[in-house]
Amino acid sequence: MGGIYARMRAGASGPLGDWTIVRHAAHDPAMPHDHHDHPHSLLPSDPALRVKALETILTQKGLVDPAALDEIIDTYENRIGPKNGAHVVARAWSDAAFRAALLADADPVLAEMGYYGRQGEHMVVVENTGDVHNMVVCTLCSCYPWPLLGIPPGWYKSDAYRARAVREPRKVLSEFGVTLPQDTSVRVWDSTAEVRYLVLPQRPAGTDGMDEAALMDLVTRDSMIGCGLAVAP
Ligand code: FE
Repeated sequence: MGGIYARMRAGASGPLGDWTIVRHAAHDPAMPHDHHDHPHSLLPSDPALRVKALETILTQKGLVDPAALDEIIDTYENRIGPKNGAHVVARAWSDAAFRAALLADADPVLAEMGYYGRQGEHMVVVENTGDVHNMVVCTLCSCYPWPLLGIPPGWYKSDAYRARAVREPRKVLSEFGVTLPQDTSVRVWDSTAEVRYLVLPQRPAGTDGMDEAALMDLVTRDSMIGCGLAVAP
């Protein structure tokens, strides 16, 4: 654990610019999520093969039902997509009391909407404003709010994104086509197995009369990770 972790834990502004890293206190090195002190050479050379072997053994022992596994994968891959998150964002844009409750304590609000489940047990919603742009990464693996956004995109899991989102977030944002005003600071949130984040993007201009359903169409998956903006109508 190098100096960057010290800065993350302090949540302090670093010498690299106007961005800060916020790492939830729950993500402690003692937590099971943090397993990266294991030498990488001990990882299986082919993780997919290893997973298949484990699945086969568990199935043979009657501990898992392959149909149930398929159901879980299909649910998160095809039936739960970013539209759940978009629904939350559109409602937050439309209803000030809902927005306030969501930002104050997201879990009960999301549970009431039915957007609760594995890989989304503890959610924090962070709001983009003119002053601050929030962006989410999991530096250790690929923690992501499945009940709201579905399965993470490939780039979210890539080594490059996980390292560069921390080191040079503005450059990463520019590669996603996002250029922020110089006086907007960038805050990078490090997702963990315990706490996952949803970005509440800024509501685009020119959307005053739009209802929730129409607003949902403006909310992209990337805007809820903080690597994009909501689209203008
Ligand atoms: Fe992770």
